[in-house]
Amino acid sequence: MSRLIVQKYGGSSLADAERIRHVAGRIARDRREGADLVVVVSAMGDTTDHLTELAAAITDEPDPREMDSLLATGEHMSGTLVTMALHAQDIEAVSLTGPQAGIRTDTAHGRARIANIDPARMRREIERGRVVIVAGFQGSTAESYDTAEVTTLGRGGSDTTAVALAARLRADACEIYTDVEGIFTADPRVVTDAQLIPTIGYEEMLELAHQGAQVMQTRAVELGWVNGVTIRVRSTFSDHPGTSIEEVRAVELRDKVRAMALDRKVAKVTIVGVPDRPGIARSIFEPMADQGLNVDMIVQNVGHDGSTDMSFTVERTNVARTERLLQLLGKELGWSEVQTDPEVAKVSIVGEGIHNHPGYAAQMFGALADEGINISMISTSEIRITCIIAEDQLDTAAKAIHRTFRLQEPEQVEAGEGAAAV
Ligand code: ASP
Ligand code: MG
Repeated sequence: MSRLIVQKYGGSSLADAERIRHVAGRIARDRREGADLVVVVSAMGDTTDHLTELAAAITDEPDPREMDSLLATGEHMSGTLVTMALHAQDIEAVSLTGPQAGIRTDTAHGRARIANIDPARMRREIERGRVVIVAGFQGSTAESYDTAEVTTLGRGGSDTTAVALAARLRADACEIYTDVEGIFTADPRVVTDAQLIPTIGYEEMLELAHQGAQVMQTRAVELGWVNGVTIRVRSTFSDHPGTSIEEVRAVELRDKVRAMALDRKVAKVTIVGVPDRPGIARSIFEPMADQGLNVDMIVQNVGHDGSTDMSFTVERTNVARTERLLQLLGKELGWSEVQTDPEVAKVSIVGEGIHNHPGYAAQMFGALADEGINISMISTSEIRITCIIAEDQLDTAAKAIHRTFRLQEPEQVEAGEGAAAV
């Protein structure tokens, strides 16, 4: 049996005809070396954004079913073009839409979750000696043709398609090809001496993705973790081996900060004079959840004179809607004021070592203090510390924290497989 590799190519790797030919060349090379291949593709470049804008230009409330059919065309298109490019290089290949590849989802248009995958068609095509190109980010609802609806998996969903296919097909490798060389200790556009991380654990990667590192979709990392799929993130444009996301055994060396994540798409909301009584938090966050307004960090101050202030962060694109909702709620629940600050940003450090080293928090705060940067909110998990600061200080903060934890120094010994467990 040949080795089965699932690969995924992102939108920027497929942005024009020349890049599509380049991607086909990479696939052809692996094929000629004897691998069986299932290749998941994203839509070309910013196609998904353009399609979304087009729909918005036509109506304020596009029908979710039609919207999914529209968005699915992006991946449909790139799949056919990559397949033609392979044919032109004398490689046998066939493109399949998500539904043709047997990807079944629930009915939640725009954010569908994969329910199961019937691999029969893909397996048959592989046996016929074809490279199978699968349109990422899409599936269909039911088994039967006369009721099935096209669904999409949410932005960045091609990563999820790839990891799900690798799990279902028990692939020997799952490779995510993108326009960066892998996962770095910080965004290299901001911190120029950021280092590529050779191996990172699922949990650390998940925290980084949640806190704004944009290389991998969080759901895909989760799915890889649950199914034990080793995910390699690497560049379409080089032969660098990239970063392996895998279960990393606890070794002493890993007892440190691994990487930072930066997120500029954040806004801070403060409700002033919230009545300090049981049930009030629910009265605020339940209506927000009902409207799909995701809340991230929440800080409630100590109450005084029967009232308190509450601050939290929301996605920046949601700040106007949040403010409107809270002003409405305030009339009923009786607070004096809603303040918003859209010019904030999140800076996080992530590492398995954090939970048994209280000193890391002090070091991070110290690095910010030395630069005269004020921290307006703090939140932590077992393996993460996040600070909210002013957005215009984010670059300075990132550089200072990176230096403080000496993340610019390459790792001495590679942790993971073969390293001694303690
Ligand atoms: N084309 C979709 C998006 O841009 C899915 C993906 O690229 O993974 O979100
Ligand atoms: Mg994309």
